[in-house]
Amino acid sequence: METWFRINLIIIASTCYLVSISAQQAFEKLRRDMVSTQIEYRGISDPATLEAMRSVERHLFVPKNNRGVAYADRAVPIGYGQTISQPYIVAYMTEIISPKPDFKVLEIGTGSGYQAAILAGIVDSVYTIEIIEELGKQASNRLSDLGYKNVVTKIADGYYGWEKRGPFDAILVTAAAAFIPPPLIQQLKPNGTMVIPIGSPFLVQNLMLVNKRKGKVRTKNLFPVRFVPFTRQ
Ligand code: SAH
Repeated sequence: METWFRINLIIIASTCYLVSISAQQAFEKLRRDMVSTQIEYRGISDPATLEAMRSVERHLFVPKNNRGVAYADRAVPIGYGQTISQPYIVAYMTEIISPKPDFKVLEIGTGSGYQAAILAGIVDSVYTIEIIEELGKQASNRLSDLGYKNVVTKIADGYYGWEKRGPFDAILVTAAAAFIPPPLIQQLKPNGTMVIPIGSPFLVQNLMLVNKRKGKVRTKNLFPVRFVPFTRQ
């Protein structure tokens, strides 16, 4: 190989390396700012939740053409008419279940896999169900490429939960349902917590907290939210 050609190759390779390092640093800064201005500022204080929101690379969970808005204060389209939830909502739903290192958590609505990745850094194991096959496959590949070993994915109608793997310490539903699916209540451990948006699709819904204590189910309205609809097969 000619020397000039070799030198050119070295220059190109080092430039690519430097560009990718500075892109990494730029995303890291966006993430730190996202946590301080959107999440801590609005009252999220659980250290494990904040740490997970700071470390999971949200831009890797959105389509390439949407990376520029990955850290914006809003939901972002992920294809198939679905969205990755606003960062604050992901953090809120994580904190509200009081996640512990020994928790087994079920998520309904894998979408991009982002909420599952956030949980995976905090709890023991995450089971996540997606109804749209292509999205479920993409998320599953993404999570394994990123090295998440404690997330198990499945393509199915999440209405029925995942009886074989239950009961769960917590269940997060990330699509808006008209009512709480009874199988999900059954698969919640005693003292378990569920968080689920309830209300009519395409309108504003209520984020609801569901607790199971001594066999009794208590629900509490948290605040109005807007989620994509919970669909049925
Ligand atoms: N938690 C996701 C965002 C979810 S958007 C993330 O972090 O990216 C809601 C997802 O719920 C969509 O992907 C939608 O296809 C899925 N969904 C809707 N109804 C469902 C059902 N019955 N079972 C499983 N997934 C469902």
